[in-house]
Amino acid sequence: MSLPEKTEARELDGNSALKEFRAEFFHGTPECIYLDGNSLGRLPLKTISRMERAVKGEWGERLIRGWNEGWYTMPEKLSAQLAPVIDAEAAEVLITGTVSLNLYKLADAALRMKSGRSTIVTDSLNFPSDIYILEGLVRNHGGHHSLRIAGSRDGISVSYDDLFELITEDTALVVLSLVAFKSAFMYDMKKVNEYARSKGALVIWDLSHAAGAVPCRLNESGAGMAVGCTYKYLNGGPGAPGYLYIRQDLLPELEPPIQGWFGHADPFAFSLSYKPAQGIRKFMTGTPPVLSLIPLEISLEMISRAGINQIRKQSKALCGFLVSLSEKYLYPLGFSAGFPQNENERGSHISLRHPEGYRICKALIQGLGGEVIIPDFREPDNIRFGISPLYNTHEELVVTVENLVKIISERLYEQIPLQKDAVT
Ligand SMILES: *Cc1c(COP(=O)(O)O)cnc(C)c1O
Repeated sequence: MSLPEKTEARELDGNSALKEFRAEFFHGTPECIYLDGNSLGRLPLKTISRMERAVKGEWGERLIRGWNEGWYTMPEKLSAQLAPVIDAEAAEVLITGTVSLNLYKLADAALRMKSGRSTIVTDSLNFPSDIYILEGLVRNHGGHHSLRIAGSRDGISVSYDDLFELITEDTALVVLSLVAFKSAFMYDMKKVNEYARSKGALVIWDLSHAAGAVPCRLNESGAGMAVGCTYKYLNGGPGAPGYLYIRQDLLPELEPPIQGWFGHADPFAFSLSYKPAQGIRKFMTGTPPVLSLIPLEISLEMISRAGINQIRKQSKALCGFLVSLSEKYLYPLGFSAGFPQNENERGSHISLRHPEGYRICKALIQGLGGEVIIPDFREPDNIRFGISPLYNTHEELVVTVENLVKIISERLYEQIPLQKDAVT
């Protein structure tokens, strides 16, 4: 089936301000339509040669000398490159660890700073790991805190009234994802920061599903702390490190819970007593993962060159296009919207729900509709279409909808077993 919107799609792609970027990515052999950049971004071509140089030229040839030839200062250099992408100062950002680890470190420091307050607030749309971390933290702090989880009435968004009801003068900490991993619901950071501040509570934002796709206005919104990852819209590669952000005036009040040598004021003095580094580096623990950091040199440069506002504009255009195609062709086939209707209240992925979502998703990945198309699946019935404005196109979205129509109307998904794979 060929949809009439294809001509319009090609025109829109031809006029896109970001069209040059697509060719800077590796597209696989044979090419596939990749709509999972919100889980793992595509590989930039320049990263291939940069990594070869890193492995052979730097590790192989330079060995231990590499530490004084750029590795030691790499986290700092890359953090400075990331800072403007999330509206922060270089001194407020540290690329290190993983999101889960960074959340633990910041949340632990926040609870100690706000000792005497006994509630932690999050929401039911948050990434489960974030909630596990908070549960464990409550236990490790002696079980004196209670975790309050704001519910979602529609499974898609959280009402500010429901959230604010839980934030009181007894709240130490609020932990929220700026963009929800399943529905793409996006908070107004400023509104939440201001309310939390009026109650004296700290907020940690998880930017994993936002950074690189939507502007994260940390400084402008008065955000205190944040964490995030670099392997989604920031295209840093599998297992690329996470980052943390601490507003400058908060930094002296927060103590890292793990006192490792890389957070020491002078690691190579090998002193037997701990003295924290002056700046945000005190939140670093051990040796940075140099080979996993290097791809960020390339991908952060691409994001800065494209400009986050331009990226957001393109993301809205692409997401809006997929929504209108879905309304016309997919809702009549049993799909429904798993995302907020207002484009200003959602990030850069579109979740479509269908009772046969899992098998339809697998059918797309196996190319049963004619093209290999890679979205992902989230329980119970969401197919998530991640839209990465640097490489996704309107034409790809038309082809995706064509494939979906074929897979459903010819019941091709019935060839897929109901038993689910480990990673969906
Ligand atoms: C992807 C993601 C994470 C991942 O955490 P890791 O510790 O890096 O595995 C955490 N939170 C959110 C909101 C995410 O989208």
